[in-house]
Amino acid sequence: MAKALTKAQSDIRYGAIWFVGGLVVTFGTHILARDGGGGPYVIAYGPVIFGAFKLAKGIVSLVSGNNEIDPSSVDIETKSNGMNCPSCNAKISTSTKYCQICGRALGI
Ligand SMILES: [Zn+2]
Repeated sequence: MAKALTKAQSDIRYGAIWFVGGLVVTFGTHILARDGGGGPYVIAYGPVIFGAFKLAKGIVSLVSGNNEIDPSSVDIETKSNGMNCPSCNAKISTSTKYCQICGRALGI
C-alpha cells in the first residue's frame, strides 16, 4: 500500500514536475530554434507559473507545519468501495471502524 502524501508533499512534488517540465520545454525549444535557424520556439509559461505557484504553496504549508493529508494521494483501493468520512470528507472504506485519513471513529 502506497503511503499517503500530505498536501504539502503532494504540492511540492507536482509543482516541481510542472515547473521543471515547463522550463525544459521553454529552454529546450529555445536552443533548438536558435541552433536550427528558426524552428518552433515554445514558451511554456503556463506550466512554469502553475508549477512555481504549487511548489511555493507546498513549501509554505510544509514550513508552517501543515500535515493535512492530500486525499487524492490515497490509494484507489481505499477510495473504491466507499463512503466519505464525516470529519475530513475523505473517501474511505466501509470495512473499517476508523477513518484511514484522520483517525475518526466511524460508529458503524
Ligand atoms: Zn477522516
